[in-house]
Parts: sequence; C-alpha cells; structure tokens
Amino acid sequence: MISLRKAFNMVVELGVPLNSIECDVDDSLGLILEEDVYATENVPSFRTSAMDGYAIKSEDLRVGINKLKVVAKVFAGQTFAGILQSGQAIRIMTGATVPEGADAVCPQEFVEISESLKDQVYIPTLLCANENIRFPGEDIESGQLLLSKGQQIGPSQIGILKSMGNTKIKVIPKVKVGVISTGDELTESGVLKPGQIRDSNRPTILASLKRLGVTPVDYGIVRDDLNAIEEAFSNAARDCDLILTTGGVSVGEADYISTVLNKICNGNMQSVKVAIKPAKPLAFGVTAQTGCPLISLPGNPVACLVSFHLFAKALIKKMMGHRVENIRTIRAKAGDDFERFPDGKLHLDRGILNVSNEGCLKVTRQAKQGSHMLRLFAESNVLICIPDGDGVVKGSSVDVIPLELNIFEEY
Ligand code: AMP
Ligand code: MG
Repeated sequence: MISLRKAFNMVVELGVPLNSIECDVDDSLGLILEEDVYATENVPSFRTSAMDGYAIKSEDLRVGINKLKVVAKVFAGQTFAGILQSGQAIRIMTGATVPEGADAVCPQEFVEISESLKDQVYIPTLLCANENIRFPGEDIESGQLLLSKGQQIGPSQIGILKSMGNTKIKVIPKVKVGVISTGDELTESGVLKPGQIRDSNRPTILASLKRLGVTPVDYGIVRDDLNAIEEAFSNAARDCDLILTTGGVSVGEADYISTVLNKICNGNMQSVKVAIKPAKPLAFGVTAQTGCPLISLPGNPVACLVSFHLFAKALIKKMMGHRVENIRTIRAKAGDDFERFPDGKLHLDRGILNVSNEGCLKVTRQAKQGSHMLRLFAESNVLICIPDGDGVVKGSSVDVIPLELNIFEEY
C-alpha cells in the first residue's frame, strides 16, 4: 500500500496546465487568468455626482449666497454644456457628469424648494469642496495593475474587466473530461434484470464535473471485455484532455482495467493500493498515442466519489491552472468517539461538519460507513480523517476534508 500523500502526488503529476486561449470575458467565470491585466482607462472617467441633488459652488454657501437659481437639469448619461456661475445651481442626478464650475453636490434632502422661491432653491447648509463628487480614477486608475496572472475569474473580476471595456482575456480553458463506466452488471434505466444495477457513478461524476466548471463528455457504459474497454478508452483519449473511468480496478476476475491501461499507456501506468478506506484501489496512466491522462476510480459508489474528490479533482484543478499542493483539510472537534480498528489505513469516514452553538467547528460521523452507501454519502459534507489506530476520542481535534466548495453557504 502507498500513502494518500504519495498517491496524490503521483496523480497530480499526470497532467500539466492546458495551453492558454483567448476567451470572451463573458465566458471566463471560474477560469484562471493567464496574463496580467492593466487598466487602460480611469473609472470613473469623469467627475460624477454621487447623489441626486444640486451641483453648486461651495464658495457661494460660505459667503452667504444660499438662494441659487436652477439653470439646468442633468441626468445620468448627460452633460451640461456651459459653466456653472456663482449664484447658480444645476439639478443633477446620481451618475451624471458634474458641470464645469461646480465643486460640490448638495443632496436634494438638504435643499428647500417653495412656490415663492420660483426657479430658485434655498440651501441652508454649508458643503465642503468636492463633497458628493466622485473623481476620475477614484476606483480604478489608468495604468494600475488590475488583475494578476494566476488569479481566478469571479463575478467581480468580470465586472472590473467589463468596466474597462475589455471583451477578451487570456485564460486556461476548461478541461474536457471524458467519463466511462465499466461493468457487465450496469444498466442505464428500465426494469432491472436479475443481477443488474443502475449506473450511479457516471451521472454523479458528470454532475460533479459540471459543478467544478469543466466540460464533461459522457461515454456511457462499457462491458467487462478487454477489447471493448480498450476501444472505448482509446476513443475517448483522442478527444479529451482527461479520462475518468469507474469500476474494474480491484482484483476480481473481470477487473481488466490495469491490463488495458498497461497496453494503451505503453507500460506508463500504475495500479496501486492506497492506504485509505474507502477507495483503496486506483489505477492511472497517460495514454501513449495521445498523451491523455486517465484515472480509473473504484466501482463502489462511495469509493468512486471519495477517489474523485481526492485525486481526480486535484488533477483537474492543476490542468485548469490552479496551484495544487495538497488535499485541503479543516480542523474540527470530534462530536463523538470515533472508534475504529488498526488496519494500516487512514479511514475517511463520512461525516457532517457543523458550527456548534459555541461557534466552533464540530463534526459528527454517519452511523454506517459502507462503501456502497451513496445515500449516507449524499447526506455528508466532509470526510473525517481518522488515522490508523484505535480511533479519536470525543472533543479532540480531527482533520476533515470538505466535499463541497462552500459547505456553509446557506440562504
Ligand atoms: P468493481 O470495482 O467493478 O469491482 O465494482 C465494485 C462494486 O461497485 C460492485 O458492487 C459493482 O456492482 C459496483 N459498481 C461498479 N460500477 C458501478 C457504477 N457505475 N454505479 C454503481 N455501482 C457500481
Ligand atoms: Mg466490475
């Protein structure tokens, strides 16, 4: 058996980040930027009113000129062609250009208007110069470094780029991942014949890939037949950046995956036993003809998903340009005694991480831990790392591996 760390490193070594492409900013959400982006414009680009109110000269108010004649009205998107003179005010809306000659905007709440004032407003307060005016470059200054190479594009980054007028950027593209299930017992749908089960691994992996923001390609179910497996794997390898397969990696008589991998990878493959439970068997390699990395996950549904979270996700992230160094863990308090027997393996038990009433992270373990129990996996949000030995006692610290990206994001 090899350690989880060793297996992780070996899998991550299978691939490199994809070559960068130019992509529409609108399509770049979640991708990694492959260039530094500098501001080419000031934002805002003109003196902008921060309030609905009146553009005035602050000096007027200081010398007691409080009744001001309203000479024009400017809405957002408009400019006033003239120059504001002493004794004048201009009705202005948020986002409109502050007219030349004005050096403050008085919010409309502070302004008195009456019949007797006719076309004048009365401002009973003083204003500082520049009050309620947004200046060119206040948010973004032309020439400044806006976004750096290696940064992930989120919604705000898209907003920043668009506010600059950028429509294209250089990014690492989405990884195209082919997914194949293997097994004679598998069927897609319909009434089950004796001995048949429905394929749950492939749909779960395909959905997990979508959530990761990559491009999944569904290659269906392949029978436990050497030639069929070889053909399916080679076919997917011609079209994809990475292939994930499930089933057939243990040591049963119909477990052909290592034989096929050995052939299509020209010996450049590994079939390993990882010292973890579940997800011990794992095979991987790089195809000789197309250089496509391939990871064969175990067939048991929980083992398959644990393996996906530990290994496949890391390689995908690396190929998409992320820095991938180790499996990310969080420390939490054990909500119970987590008993186990020594067996030389790190147990990755399904659990639920919560914030306790005291504001600490607390983890509880699912009562059953079968590697076929998909329902209990679905009701879990972490894998609890219980080191080899007799277990972890209630209240002590334990590492957990989050299964979801934002496990506390609730509305
Ligand atoms: P294997 O790794 O092929 O020996 O399969 C181990 C266990 O997982 C067996 O009970 C299989 O029936 C089950 N299994 C394999 N592939 C799938 C799948 N795609 N969906 C659900 N269960 C599966
Ligand atoms: Mg099988």
